[in-house]
Amino acid sequence: MKREERVVQPEEMKRQEAFIEEIREMPQKPKSYYVVTYGCQMNAHDSEKLAGMLQRMGITEAEERDKADFVIFNTCCVRENAERRALGNVTWLKEVRKNNPGLIIAVCGCMIQEPGMAEKILKQYRFINLAFGTANLHCFPELMYRTLNTDRSVVVVEDRDVIPEGLPIARARKEAAYITIMYGCNNYCSYCIVPYVRGRERSRQPEQILREAEGLRDSGVKEIMLLGQNVNSYGKDLEGGMSFAALLKELDGTGIPRIRFMTSHPKDLSDELIDVMSGSRHILPQFHLPVQSGSDRILKMMNRHYTRDQYLDRVRKLREAVPGIGLSTDIIVGFPGETEEEFRETMALVEKVRYDSAFTFIYSPRVGTRAAEMESQIAPEVATRRIQELIALQEGLQQETMKRFVGTEEEVLTEGLSRRSSESVSGKGRHGISITIAGTVQDVGEILRCRVTGLKNNTLVGERI
Ligand code: SF4
Repeated sequence: MKREERVVQPEEMKRQEAFIEEIREMPQKPKSYYVVTYGCQMNAHDSEKLAGMLQRMGITEAEERDKADFVIFNTCCVRENAERRALGNVTWLKEVRKNNPGLIIAVCGCMIQEPGMAEKILKQYRFINLAFGTANLHCFPELMYRTLNTDRSVVVVEDRDVIPEGLPIARARKEAAYITIMYGCNNYCSYCIVPYVRGRERSRQPEQILREAEGLRDSGVKEIMLLGQNVNSYGKDLEGGMSFAALLKELDGTGIPRIRFMTSHPKDLSDELIDVMSGSRHILPQFHLPVQSGSDRILKMMNRHYTRDQYLDRVRKLREAVPGIGLSTDIIVGFPGETEEEFRETMALVEKVRYDSAFTFIYSPRVGTRAAEMESQIAPEVATRRIQELIALQEGLQQETMKRFVGTEEEVLTEGLSRRSSESVSGKGRHGISITIAGTVQDVGEILRCRVTGLKNNTLVGERI
């Protein structure tokens, strides 16, 4: 199916607003809702938008999933595991419905956008009341209205590249907020399904982003996280486009204390961006730079468009420009055809770079991607052994790299009470590493200064200054 061109529709948003008003007045509307989120920060933020719309409909959040009258699963399909878990949990709700016959079950997100999934739901999961894809998130009020007025399943999956503006958002945290700066991805890494389910890259207008950031600043938000599948190519699709580096510079000027972003593609990490980071106070000294593999041949098979040396050059430049920068990465092991030697190249790269953290994955074939068709898929026991070796290496190195913070001063944005003690709070330091310090519930959501005194597992321990 051919994707439609980008559609930005303020009138459409007004139409959806009218459905919200209709639902508010409906006696048969659910009283409580629960959103179950799988996957990445983009999905977490989409869930905040779902919650925002539900609250505007006059439906309140339930404390537990099994007590809600309306449960929506915001799914992910990047890994087979997430998909299986989501479908298992949706099926479990069918049991819950025996005690709550009015329960409405909805499913949305990337999984629904997969080819054939809509048909599968209509045939095999007929107890699902509502299902819609990523391109239909902004139409949720209309779809909900239709669901409340029919006994049949409402399943809508469209292939459109939209930029919805002005959706209500119920933010999960008061002190830190997500801002989506762009949607979709053009890269077609051979293992990844995202471009097929999230569409082509499309950037929000810089003025919209700045307005949102200023509004958050005025409401007391201390940290913003800019989101996109590949934030480094922000603006390339805009007329007279603004680069991501230029956007960051503008945001730096808003006075929001802390600015973070993810995810970055090494091939698009420009010198301009590195320069902006080095001259800024508010852009935090941290960078998530997925490498995926240390082997040039595997990187080529992955369609990543950089070599190992080019990646290492970016790391070197970042470290020169922002000394002590916190670096994290994503790595896939067991990509089709990965030899033992190529896996060793990944291990050697990890040893050389010394990341502060690494998200490691076993390659998971996704139907419709090029890698899923490749020959020489790696045996699960080989991939498992490789990931165990990689995790052991990273854990050992991490303990070493984190020692560089001991004795330094850090600034923590506290997220909550520490899991181990009610007399300490924890949050992220400027370099993206978790820090625990003495504190109470009154300190949650504050930026506190501390001196790092040691480390425990993967967390730094500090003393308040
Ligand atoms: S950059 Fe590659 S891995 Fe990331 S979302 Fe796009 S296609 Fe997927």
